[in-house]
Amino acid sequence: MSTIPVDSVVKPVIEVTELRKTYGHGETAVHALRGVDMTVWPGEYLAIMGASGSGKSTLLNVLGCLDVPTSGAYKLDGISVGTLNERQLSLVRNRKIGFVFQSFNLVPRTTALSNVELPLIYAGLRRKERRQRAAAALAMVGLADRAGHRPNELSGGQQQRVALARALVTGPAMVLADEPTGNLDSESTAEVLNVFDSLNRSGRTIVMITHEDHVAAHAARTVRVSDGQIIEDTAQWRTTGALT
Ligand code: ADP
Ligand code: MG
Repeated sequence: MSTIPVDSVVKPVIEVTELRKTYGHGETAVHALRGVDMTVWPGEYLAIMGASGSGKSTLLNVLGCLDVPTSGAYKLDGISVGTLNERQLSLVRNRKIGFVFQSFNLVPRTTALSNVELPLIYAGLRRKERRQRAAAALAMVGLADRAGHRPNELSGGQQQRVALARALVTGPAMVLADEPTGNLDSESTAEVLNVFDSLNRSGRTIVMITHEDHVAAHAARTVRVSDGQIIEDTAQWRTTGALT
């Protein structure tokens, strides 16, 4: 039986304050984020919605440490991201974050298994352990029987599930997904959302961008972004003061 340390207070997985991101300078500057405050707790399932150009991807890229904010503070799993150097940042990215893109971003000429193994090569794991973990991640997304297939031998939904397995294989604190069903037909969309749903049921934190209501309906919380600011947040704990 495991014991719980006395100081094990639940801490946010994401805590951003006054986040701003400006692209360019002077006359042509684009203010993509204009003061975003957001807290995400472990195990949350959150959808970010908003019109095209409202700053959703910019926000997710900052949360995923793929981009640095112009100003503001970001604590990821208790770590102040702003104090990290490039090397530390890439370690945090590799260990704490699983990223899924609209366009899958799989390596075309290699198998599903090899694609999923990739982050473990960067993490410095040995081949045998890599293979085992990659196979387990593929099983988690229901693709154990497709390990030897190349991306062009898989449907869109299956390719996105391979991308999801690749995002999960390092055991990240959270999965960030930028319009993960944006390129998929309705059957594949359902397939991918099924996996997200079951991952969340087993306790994983998921933040996903979508502009479709029926996709956002899978999430327990919706954050609406407009013109670089949050204009609506349905978080229960914001009003009740506790996670429900
Ligand atoms: P969304 O994902 O909601 O469609 P984005 O976050 O991609 O919005 O973009 C927000 C704004 O920032 C847009 O006006 C976009 O043109 C601008 N933008 C995004 N990335 C860059 C970039 N690398 N350089 C300049 N402007 C950018
Ligand atoms: Mg976008």
